[in-house]
Amino acid sequence: MENKALKNRKILIVEDDLSSRLYLNKILEKTGAILLNSGDGKEAVEMVYKNPDIDIILMDIQLPVMDGYAAAKKIREIGKSTILIAQTAYGLSDDMEKILASGFDDYVVKPILSDQLITKLSGYFSK
Ligand SMILES: [Mg+2]
Repeated sequence: MENKALKNRKILIVEDDLSSRLYLNKILEKTGAILLNSGDGKEAVEMVYKNPDIDIILMDIQLPVMDGYAAAKKIREIGKSTILIAQTAYGLSDDMEKILASGFDDYVVKPILSDQLITKLSGYFSK
């Protein structure tokens, strides 16, 4: 269903697992958001350079070439204030600390549920 808060927002999905990536695209394309995709952290950082108007980055933590922690730090070093959300399979507090220390604003725990994700993302724009 189209979502007023997310329509035409630019969302970068960073996920190395193809089926997970397709799943996230399927959920988010219905909202009317503009979707970009990347399969590793280094490429994600390069895409942020090339697309300074990205609104949200939904980043996996376990990624090839450069992991999500390092990619988030790089994106913050560039000075980007983009909404940065980690996707994590872990519920451990030390991972959460590391996630927040790396510059992420928030996280979602896998498996990601469609309604929860859309509610979380749209919440950033409906204030
Ligand atoms: Mg992964």
